[in-house]
Amino acid sequence: MAKQWSPSSWQQFPIKQQPAYPSPQALESVLTQLKQNPPLVFAGEARSLQTKLADVAQGKAFLLQGGDCAESFAEFNANNIRDTFKVMLQMAIVLTFGGACPIVKVGRMAGQFAKPRSADMECQGDISLPSYRGDIINSIEFSEEARIPDPNRLLKAYNQAAATLNLLRAFAQGGLADLHQVHRWNLGFVKNSALKERYQHLAERIDETLSFMAACGITAQTSSAIRETDFYTSHEALLLNYEEALTRQDSITGDWYDCSAHMLWIGDRTRQPEGAHIEFLRGVKNPIGVKAGPTLKPEELIQLIDSLNPENEPGRITVIVRMGAGKVADGLPALIRKVQQEGRHVVWSCDPMHGNTIKACSGFKTRAFDQILQEVREFFQVHHAEGSYAGGVHFEMTGQNVTECIGGAQAITEEGLGDRYHTHCDPRLNADQSLELAFLIAETLKS
Ligand code: PEP
Ligand code: MN
Repeated sequence: MAKQWSPSSWQQFPIKQQPAYPSPQALESVLTQLKQNPPLVFAGEARSLQTKLADVAQGKAFLLQGGDCAESFAEFNANNIRDTFKVMLQMAIVLTFGGACPIVKVGRMAGQFAKPRSADMECQGDISLPSYRGDIINSIEFSEEARIPDPNRLLKAYNQAAATLNLLRAFAQGGLADLHQVHRWNLGFVKNSALKERYQHLAERIDETLSFMAACGITAQTSSAIRETDFYTSHEALLLNYEEALTRQDSITGDWYDCSAHMLWIGDRTRQPEGAHIEFLRGVKNPIGVKAGPTLKPEELIQLIDSLNPENEPGRITVIVRMGAGKVADGLPALIRKVQQEGRHVVWSCDPMHGNTIKACSGFKTRAFDQILQEVREFFQVHHAEGSYAGGVHFEMTGQNVTECIGGAQAITEEGLGDRYHTHCDPRLNADQSLELAFLIAETLKS
């Protein structure tokens, strides 16, 4: 690995999953524009997220990361942003109670556009076209023209991310995050759930706690902890031209930050130790996630941690484990032992989505609620057995009432998937399924 890092040094390294733009000049002119645009986040915010993640690494807080698999231009509107934000807060209040610790909330929002694909080409009938790579690159429409990478999409994505972030900041600080309000939404969910009896007890205890606090004078009027929340953004740092263009030197510390989001992660397909993605991310000081699939070897994980976090700062690295239900006990213990032996500080988070994708007979990509829950349970069990801390969860989810994952109390069936299947990429948990998971995880945390 070259010693000298710069925002563009990744360009000297082998790279995967990038689009081939037909006009390098058109791309260059867009990148010049993006480099002049204001950063989306401020370095100080990324540092405060790292401090919170350091608490998670030390077992004093819990990470909830969630949002779309892929944000899209078509589904961009205030209600979608509000509803995902709301459900994450609803989940967070339940998890806070279950874990008796603060929940660090990070959206897969305001920049989660670029998608890695398992195949370069996509077939429908006898027609084969370049794969859809996310709205920041090309269009999901199945036509030759739509699949040509268009650099103007970078500007559109930047503007959408800016507007999304603006609304999230307003929601977090402007009254929508009031704990009493969030709890009232949860009571509505419990009342209408098929598993009402199961969730009622926990909801009642949260009710009592909030009433007790109010009686002590801790209310939305008196306490910003009741009234407001901190909400951070994250996405996969896949399209490195975009990430480089938003990378800025912090005037306070002189360090470089990728100001497209607070936290960036490296996907399971682009984590080659000698590859461009690791080169880019080692030089920016944001908190970094590393996806860990079943093929990741313990030595390789240490090599990645060494490149990305040579100072071994807690909160810098979150290992996002995505083995698949039934495979966690095979893959995870060796990773945990190696990290423990080498004395590295990491947050361990569980992504129970990406190892559990299946194809339904109807052709829809789906995931089963039970498999998702099963992987979360296995993750907690392994950490318990290894004496390490299960620090977080990472979900693909939406606040909308979609039918993309099967199962849950609503019992979505394979036949029902077509009713409201809106995702631009992977299947997401809907609002009720997300909350159900939060209640079930809270039970695990309590026991
Ligand atoms: C994702 O998080 O959407 C993703 C593609 O994950 P992974 O890299 O783990 O497959
Ligand atoms: Mn996905």
